[in-house]
Amino acid sequence: MTAPRFDNSYARLGSGFFSRTAPTPVPQPELIALNRDLALRLGLDADWLSGPDGVAMLAGNALPDGAEPIAQAYAGHQFGGLSPQLGDGRAVLLGEVVAPDGARFDVQLKGSGPTPFSRRGDGRAWLGPVLREYLVSEFMAAMGVPTTRALAAVTTGEPVWRETALPGAVLTRVASSHVRVGTFEFFAIRGDTDRLRALTEHVIARHYPDAGDALGMLRGVVARQAETVAQWMALGFIHGVMNTDNMAVSGETIDYGPCAFMDAYHPETVFSSIDRGGRYAWAEQPRVAVWNLAQLASCLIPLMGEQESAIRDATEVVHGFPGLYQAAWLRRFGDKLGIADATEGDRPLIERLLDLMAAQQADFTRVFHGLAADTAAAEFSDPAPFRDWQADWRARKPDLDLAARTNPVRIPRNHRIQQAIDAGLTGDFALFHRLALAWTAPFDTRAEWEDLAAAPAPGEEVRLTFCGT
Ligand code: AMP
Ligand code: MG
Repeated sequence: MTAPRFDNSYARLGSGFFSRTAPTPVPQPELIALNRDLALRLGLDADWLSGPDGVAMLAGNALPDGAEPIAQAYAGHQFGGLSPQLGDGRAVLLGEVVAPDGARFDVQLKGSGPTPFSRRGDGRAWLGPVLREYLVSEFMAAMGVPTTRALAAVTTGEPVWRETALPGAVLTRVASSHVRVGTFEFFAIRGDTDRLRALTEHVIARHYPDAGDALGMLRGVVARQAETVAQWMALGFIHGVMNTDNMAVSGETIDYGPCAFMDAYHPETVFSSIDRGGRYAWAEQPRVAVWNLAQLASCLIPLMGEQESAIRDATEVVHGFPGLYQAAWLRRFGDKLGIADATEGDRPLIERLLDLMAAQQADFTRVFHGLAADTAAAEFSDPAPFRDWQADWRARKPDLDLAARTNPVRIPRNHRIQQAIDAGLTGDFALFHRLALAWTAPFDTRAEWEDLAAAPAPGEEVRLTFCGT
């Protein structure tokens, strides 16, 4: 039984990047879940992690040798407005582990108590957002979407005050790094070019070893974000708070707050209770990504030599996003229809199906999954237009195996997450564990999980989600 050995390459960047902050101990930590598959991937000892010393670490009550806990500084554009001083207000980075294959991962506790960046917040998380992030991020990983992961969830034995007293919890988040677009903004808006350069070098070494320079790094971030956002779209996923502080430069999906998957398809779907203008609606996500990447690009200008050519080059790279995204979108939705190597000529067929689904509010996941299974027509209140579409689709000779292995049978539906949270509030985690298992086997059609493939019944639908706080 061995404790993790942490390295601390981010902490070695030195002063100005973070504040040294230990997690605040909690009275009575109890393990809800330990992700053994992820522990194995990281080369961590799952038996140690689930034992008393491990749970103490996962709750923030004990620090293994070598951990140098820090709260990272960052800024961010929130709903378009600049917040110059954000940072980890309810999280600390314990350190980094280097997996057996040499890959480096951050291990962060989320909900671990106040830091100098907490402003008026308590630095804590309640059970609901912890369970939600665990379930959704692990489904994303199972679907091959770049994402932060969930190593563990613990309850703290301490109430957290939101509108009422709720059980406190801590999520152990694993990420290839936690550097955000907002981390670059933090130094850029302060005119701190030295730290901006050091951060860029850190990110190049860690994520884009072939990039060479800031422009090459920007090109890498743009390419990865185009792929990631296309994958969100292909799953009906809505991030919910695509602020620049919630966009990782690694390309991983990060900060599962008011995120949700659509049940009934409509491109303007918004779930977040704070997104009143629909800025982060499903169909807006690629445009928002460009906006965020433009913020990153402008941060990097001071590192790119002569200003006029720097602006020209950076602009060109950001303007490359739509082409990369459209290509990724076509590939993803082509696969969903069973059309490998879809071309521009296939786009109208894909869009026609989406338009039909929107017009009849058909269930996104069930329609796509139903293509190969030949059950999709039943998802339409008036199946006639779908039948017409289906004839044209069949004429294209789709590969049904490709469609079947692309379209999951089930997704983390909002109402199920809510049911798992409601049960968790009574101390019952059976549904949480059932969902965690079923959602990390998203193509497995076993009978005992059939209920989880169903769309919400009329009264069951959850249309509003709340920030992770
Ligand atoms: P978010 O949009 O949820 O990613 O959070 C935006 C900012 O608010 C980040 O700097 C968070 O660290 C901070 N924050 C959110 N919730 C809390 C909390 N309960 N206590 C302290 N800071 C928080
Ligand atoms: Mg955030």
